[in-house]
This record gives sequence, C-alpha cells and structure tokens, in this order.
Amino acid sequence: MALVARVLLPLPLPEAFDYLVPEGAELAVGDHVAAPLGPRLVRGVVVELREAHGINRPLKALQGRIDEPPLPPGTLAFVEWAARYGCGAPGEALAMALRGLRAPLPNPERLVAATGQAPAKPTPARARVLEAALAGPQKAAALALTAGVSAGVVKGLIEDGALAWVERAADAGFAEPDLTLPGATLNASQKAAATVLADLATAGGFGVALLDGVTGSGKTEVYLEAAAAALAADPSAQVLILLPEIALTQAVIARVETRFGAAPAEWHSGVASPRRRQVWEAVARGSCRIVVGARSALFLPFANLRLIVVDEEHDGSFKQEDGFIYHARDLAVARAKIEGAAVVLASATPSLESIWNAQGGRYRWLKLSKRHGTATLPEIALVDLRETPPEAGRWLSPVLARAMVETFAAGEQSLLFLNRRGYAPLVLCRACGERMTSPDSQSWLVEHRYTGRLVCHLTGWSMPKPLACPHCGAKDSLVSIGPGVERLEEEARILLPEARIAVFSSDTVQDAAGARTLVARMAEGEIDVLVATQAAAKGHNFPRLTLVGVVDADLGLRGGDLRAAERTYQLLAQATGRAGRAERPGRALIQTYAPEHAVMQALKAQDRDGFLAAEAEAREASGLPPYGRLAALIASSPDPVVLDAFCQALAAAVPNAEGVEVYGPADAPLGLIRGRRRKRFLVRADRTVDLQGFLTAWRARVRVPGAVRLTIDVDPYSFL
Ligand SMILES: [Zn+2]
Repeated sequence: MALVARVLLPLPLPEAFDYLVPEGAELAVGDHVAAPLGPRLVRGVVVELREAHGINRPLKALQGRIDEPPLPPGTLAFVEWAARYGCGAPGEALAMALRGLRAPLPNPERLVAATGQAPAKPTPARARVLEAALAGPQKAAALALTAGVSAGVVKGLIEDGALAWVERAADAGFAEPDLTLPGATLNASQKAAATVLADLATAGGFGVALLDGVTGSGKTEVYLEAAAAALAADPSAQVLILLPEIALTQAVIARVETRFGAAPAEWHSGVASPRRRQVWEAVARGSCRIVVGARSALFLPFANLRLIVVDEEHDGSFKQEDGFIYHARDLAVARAKIEGAAVVLASATPSLESIWNAQGGRYRWLKLSKRHGTATLPEIALVDLRETPPEAGRWLSPVLARAMVETFAAGEQSLLFLNRRGYAPLVLCRACGERMTSPDSQSWLVEHRYTGRLVCHLTGWSMPKPLACPHCGAKDSLVSIGPGVERLEEEARILLPEARIAVFSSDTVQDAAGARTLVARMAEGEIDVLVATQAAAKGHNFPRLTLVGVVDADLGLRGGDLRAAERTYQLLAQATGRAGRAERPGRALIQTYAPEHAVMQALKAQDRDGFLAAEAEAREASGLPPYGRLAALIASSPDPVVLDAFCQALAAAVPNAEGVEVYGPADAPLGLIRGRRRKRFLVRADRTVDLQGFLTAWRARVRVPGAVRLTIDVDPYSFL
C-alpha cells in the first residue's frame, strides 16, 4: 500500500499538508523533504506517516528526501507545542527550528597529501617534503614550511603526481568537554545547591529548580557543576545554557571553557551563518554537547538534551516580540518537560512568576545567600532630587558628584547607570516649541551626538540633525532635552577631566568582540568611569568598582505597565549589585524624585522579599499574572477605516466565557509604526480558563481582511 506523509512547511500556514510518498522512497518522521507547493518546491519536515487508505482526493507526490540530519522527535513535539501555546502557525515555529539551515556549510579546506607514488626526479628537497607529508594531509604552505622548502617544490610534486590535493570539511571544532577537570572551589551554600542540582540533572526526568542568589553569590559555578554532572552521567547528554544578551554571553563562554577545557558552541545573532549551520548539524547529530546561546537556541534540534539553564531568568529579553512570539524561559520549561530533562532558572532577582512557582512547590527553590569570598553587599542610599537637585543642565546631584570625585581619588572605579541610549531623548525648537518626531511612528527622535543623527529607537528611522527647525525655519533653535548616556559622559568629563571614561551601550558596543574588549578594559582597571545602559548592568565582575550611581531611578516606573515596578526593582538591584566585590566595600547612590515609592524603599533596605510580597498581593487582588493570565490582540493596518471596522467586528465576536474579561479595542500607546495604525485588545482570564482555546475560537469567528494584520501575544510583556 502506498504511504501518505503529513508534511509541515516552515511557512505561516494553519496546518501541515498531506503528500504521497513516492514508490520505493524510504522516509521517516523528522526527515527533510522537498514538497511541491503551487509552482514551487519547498523544504518541509515529515511529521507523520500513514497508509493511504480512505483518501479520496488526488495528492501531490513528494520530490524526495533532503539529506540532512532529521529533526529529533523531541524537537518536533516542542515545535508543535510552542505553536499551540502561542496560538501561532506551526510552520512559524518550525521555521525557528530550521534557522540554522539557511546557509551552506563553510567551504572545505584544500590540503595536500602524499599519493604513495615516487617522484620522477628525486632530490633532497623533494625527499624532505615527502617525509613531512607522512604526518597526514596538511596545507601546502605548512608543508613547505615544515620541510624548509619553497612553495614551488610542493607544487612540482603535485604536478609530478607524488602529492595530490584533497578536500576536507572545515573543522567544526566541537571538542569533547574534559570531565576530569576539577570544578571551582565552592562555599558551603554553593556546595549544597550544586548537590541538589546535580541530582536533578542526572535523575533522568523532568524537574525545575530556581537558583536564587544575590549578585556575586556564585550562581554560574553552581550551575556549571550541574552541567558537569549531566554530561558525566550520560556520554551523549547535551546541555543548553540560555542567556539574555550577547554582552553577557562572552563572560559565560569563557567560564564554560575554563571549566570544561573546551569552548562551547555559540548561538546568537553575532554568529556567522555558515558557523550556525555547523552548530545546527552538530547539535542534531549529538556531536556538540554544550551550547551557550540567546533565546532562539531553544529551538535547536538537540539529539539528547538533558539540562537547560536559563541564566538571568527574569530578563525581559527572553521574550521575542516580533515574528513568532514566545518567552524562552517559559518555553524552556515546556521543552524540558517534553524531553524529560531538568531546568535551572538562575537569577539574583527572580521573576514574580518563578517565585510563585517555587512557593507553590512546583519548582525546587535553592537560595544562595552568602557572597562568594569575603565581599559584602554594597551600602545603598537614596538621593532625593527634590532636596539636592543637580545644577541646571546637569544630571548628577552634588551628592553623587562628590562620591565620584572621592572614588576617583581613591583609585577606584565608578559606574553611572542610565538606561537611555544616545545624547538626549528629546529635541525641541526653542522658537516654536515643535518636538522632533519620527514620521513613521510619531515617537520622539533621540539625539545621537556620536553620529550627529536623530534616531527613532522604535523603527530605526533616522535623519541628520537639521541646522534649522523644519517647522518654523528658525536657525540654531533646536535644543536637547534630558540626558542619555552620551550626555552623561560629557558631564563626567567636566567633573573629572583626568579620568578615563567610557560608554557601554548598544551603540558603542555592537558585537561580542566589542563587549569583550570593554569588559576586559574595565576589569583591568583601564577605565575610571563607565557610563552604561542596562547592557552592562549585569553579569560582569569588576573587582575595582566601588561606586554605582543610578542617575534616574524613576525612569522605568513611568509608562505604567503590569511589570513596571518589578522590572525597575530587578534592573536597579542588578545595577547596584555591581558595586563592591572582592575585598573592597561598595556603595550605591540612587537618584530619585520618589524616595517613598515601594521600589526605592525596598532597594534601600535590600529587602527583595518584602518588595515581592507587596507586589504579589497587589497582583493577586486584581487577578493579574501569575494569579491570572493575560493575552493581547494587536490589529494593525495602513488603512484606519478598515482597521476600525475590523476591530468592531472583532469586539462583537468575543465568545461568551466564564472567568474571562476582554478590554478594548483601544488605540495602542504606539499608535503608528512604519505607517501602520495599531489597536489593542487585552484579555484577562482566570488560571482555570483554557486561554488558548478561547483565543482560537474568537479568531475563528472573524475574517481578517488582507489589509489587516492580527497578532496574538499570549502572556504579553509589552503593553505598547
Ligand atoms: Zn521651530
């Protein structure tokens, strides 16, 4: 009997398609195939095979198997689960899993090797080359160098037939981890946690642990011991370490390399495509055992994934907001459940969601309270900007400025933290009051002095800073309002003309190598003052850093979304936690106009648990996550009339359901992006409600016009 293959295509289609399996073709679930779709052939993956009875319509035949490592069953199941959870198209989740296959492998190396044939005219030089060639295939230049001859001698031997060119696949370079190396020396608290995690990672089943330890308590050393245990217990075991940012990736990669004597595979946007292809194949074949990567590494085709570590688990950048929408921390737990693997969520400021799961006993809760070594927590003080404001046009209060002068005089380092890129967040005309906004999003244009441009941080649109106001034509009337990191650098230079000052933001540090260089310079004491956005707020260990100044602590509290207070607390606790490691005590000064706010009081008292308890109580009272669930529907269109009509139809089609409230449509706070108007609905549901079922039923009741894009965001983190 003929066979039918159900094939998932990596495209935004609602479901997989059936194809006939050609006679004699040997196919298995997970295989890559060439499938006809309209006039084209596209790559797809077989998700099911069955006998072809009861089929009463003609099916197209597959064009054959593509010879690439098949997707393992765990990866396939995960792709389908992720799509269902996010109410997205399964093909979009599959596209995430196939991302590594976009580029060809790197070109093979051309080497020369002895053929065994004797040269026609033997000479002493030729004899030396042939002797050196006994070591195996090597590069022609290296062979000439070893034999001490010119390149011409090697060339002559190739022409003579005594040597020949051979090609070898470029070395993928995934060395086996050396599990005989000793781990770091752990203190008692670390040892206890490492033992529990090692047991969890080798027990051979699903389990989640929350590794909750203050900054500098040595979480990395602890989870690396769990990784070592997992790798040692099973010779084919694989470990994935997820990190929120490239800047952080480099520091962790160095530590993994030290611990296991072999560099892990890297997976993030900074990795070249041919290299990604190598990583993808090696992960699928099981020949690469440790991967350190950004959120999308979760979709790699692991052959035998035993442990996932999500470091800085509270970090918002684990949420992917465009294209296929997902949260890598939540999906890591789902993937581990499918694979029967362990998960370690690590953070100094865990998310309310993870704390709630730990309190409910669903996650093991491991607390590291002691700082590694002899260092103590920094002393934290609030600077009330109403009482001690900075001078006009300045941003550092006299208190913080004095502390910076003292720190510099003592030969120690300061970090000024301001989570705002560029020079000034707003440019306006003194003559007519016009604010410079982006034409495609109507948001404020941010002035960047290093490049001399005004930039929309939302869409990337930019223009040179004009000499005259585009609105009224007044010359030299544009003024910069408010500070960004570039402006703070200027102020720090005026305050400390002798100091070496650097800026760490995604504008000055654009790739992994740049981050590594700047972190190394800071660690070596080559920088006195580091002005930084959140790119530098976490994960780095700077032994000479003794002062952290938070320039505008109120910044994250404005805009008021669900997690504003939680996020502000996490970010500032991480930033102030940078101060004082090793033997030097540190201090942190937090500039605020709202010192009485619960976030500021909790930071000052270093009372994280108190803050979280108050925050949890407020969320529970209003049924917000983690006590309830949220989803957002965002409709956008270039045509406001079509958009309004569609949103009215959508509002009229809300299914009746107990325990669900639907708010909207409302104009999105970012009402216009790239020429598209945007409207939002917000859905709040009790935890007992099948939220995905509700959303799917709702969407099925309306027809989405071609001019409208409808996006569903389950568990939204952005409310813009
Ligand atoms: Zn003007």
